[in-house]
Amino acid sequence: MNLSNLKNEYDIVVAGGGITGAGVFHEAVNRGFRVLLVEARDFAGGTSSRSSKMVHGGLRYLKQGKFLLTRTAVKERERLIKKYPGLVCPLKFILPVFDHYGPSRSSLKAGLSIYSLMAGKKQHKSYSRAEAIMKIPGIRQENLVSAVGFMDAQVDDARLVMRLIYDACHSGGTALNYTKVTGVERNRNKRVSAVTVSDESCGTCVEIKTKVFINATGVFAEKLHPSPMKDFHIRPLRGSHLVFPGHCLPLDRVISFIHPQDLRPVFLFPWEGSVFLGTTDVDHDQDMNKEPFVTPKEADYLMEGLRYILPGIDLGPEDSICSLAGVRPVLSKKKVATSKESREHVVWKDNGLVTVTGGKLTTFGLLADDALKAAKPYLPAPSFDGPAQKVKPFHEKQIHPDISIKSKQRLWARYGTAAGTIFQNYDPSLFYPVEGTNALWVEICYAAEHEQVHNLSDLLLRRVRIGLFLPRGGKHLLDKVETLCQNFLPWDTDQWEIEKRNYIKEWNACYSPPQKRKGAGDGE
Ligand SMILES: Cc1cc2nc3c(=O)[nH]c(=O)nc-3n(C[C@H](O)[C@H](O)[C@H](O)COP(=O)(O)OP(=O)(O)OC[C@H]3O[C@@H](n4cnc5c(N)ncnc54)[C@H](O)[C@@H]3O)c2cc1C
Repeated sequence: MNLSNLKNEYDIVVAGGGITGAGVFHEAVNRGFRVLLVEARDFAGGTSSRSSKMVHGGLRYLKQGKFLLTRTAVKERERLIKKYPGLVCPLKFILPVFDHYGPSRSSLKAGLSIYSLMAGKKQHKSYSRAEAIMKIPGIRQENLVSAVGFMDAQVDDARLVMRLIYDACHSGGTALNYTKVTGVERNRNKRVSAVTVSDESCGTCVEIKTKVFINATGVFAEKLHPSPMKDFHIRPLRGSHLVFPGHCLPLDRVISFIHPQDLRPVFLFPWEGSVFLGTTDVDHDQDMNKEPFVTPKEADYLMEGLRYILPGIDLGPEDSICSLAGVRPVLSKKKVATSKESREHVVWKDNGLVTVTGGKLTTFGLLADDALKAAKPYLPAPSFDGPAQKVKPFHEKQIHPDISIKSKQRLWARYGTAAGTIFQNYDPSLFYPVEGTNALWVEICYAAEHEQVHNLSDLLLRRVRIGLFLPRGGKHLLDKVETLCQNFLPWDTDQWEIEKRNYIKEWNACYSPPQKRKGAGDGE
């Protein structure tokens, strides 16, 4: 798929293949519009593969008095758990309560009662001090009073983006990665009439006519549409995680705790067999055109919090296997303390140009709805008459008997109806996990063949996430990946060598544990 496959006119062109753009694309296609999504780099290559993976109301927003935001997010969480079972999964949280710092037990109980009320069911409970010590092995006992437990949910962020994009493509939408919107054209009445898009791999540009252009480019949104409000701009805030092998810190729930240095909430959470520690919240002063990376200073901050809450822990940042930084598109008026900045989204309109940015992964549905409401006056009646190709119905009975229930569940959850293609088209011997991860080899093959993979980072960091869970990004498996995927990717032997080298170089620069990085300075 490339620029030559595109029509020369759409009802809507969306720029940005993160969760916001994917949500708008999915919703607009479902409403019957002819929609093109273009992403300048890889789908979910920006912030939307670097989140804390939580589909949550955000307990701390309650404390800031953001009742509407919390209520909307809680409702979205419930909707997404139902709509994407197995991809969006309920997850237990526990928060220890101390009597010398952090929120009191009574304020937490009050907040959690409201939280449960918003969800329409009781989802929290209190633990005594003894229970807290049992549930959180190694917890700081000095000044520990009790703990509270509650439910939220977890998702593979990049897979949710892919699910939205490919479900919409199966319904007739068109999506292209490595394609950038470089200009917005207007007619004599100043209405949007077309956009210029450029193929980032070869530099070719084409003009595509459109009634509406939706700018969902996250932290880059002001490049295409400067803020219409005085002194109200995007403030890029970096959030970082360290990833540890699961056996270092076996967890069955998220430990949410307050960092002693700045009283911010920090999470230690299990995900796909590994444990993530994060996040930070700092002004992002790295080059915006390059991949963000975790600095040693951020790693020290995270480790300080972890050692405070689990004082006996024998773990250093050098024990992490990976690090991951993302940049939040936060809208800021007064540049208050980073964690006090609002996480609400904005929609700006200008004659057929609609910008939607800010918000959270959890509330992508709301962002999509608001963006399409703003676009409505410029849109024709929905004209799209169904997908070009019908998805063939597929029955469980057609699945090879050797494929385990766990693998089946994983594939249905992550790929939706496309799982049928996976069951039908690949050898049953590929349906086993990549050593040390939950991902299946068949997912790597499927992604290489069907999910617009341009390089090994697309494949190993975002389609299947094994580059985040394996030492040195899974370098030891690259030859096997080559053997299995050589028929699906257009690379000869020399090109495979280049791709493997580039992947390792990128992983070392931006995903390796900061303390192990060559010449790791502070980076700030
Ligand atoms: C560390 C961290 C933890 C977080 N944790 C959570 C969480 O647990 N739960 C939650 O709900 N939210 C969380 N968030 C917030 C959430 O991740 C973001 O709000 C969300 O991912 C933003 O998505 P987006 O699509 O707007 O931006 P992005 O994902 O950055 O997507 C924008 C895309 O636009 C593309 N683009 C830029 N310019 C152009 C152009 N000219 N043409 C085409 N494409 C272009 C970029 O390449 C990029 O891929 C977290 C954020 C961070 C940083």
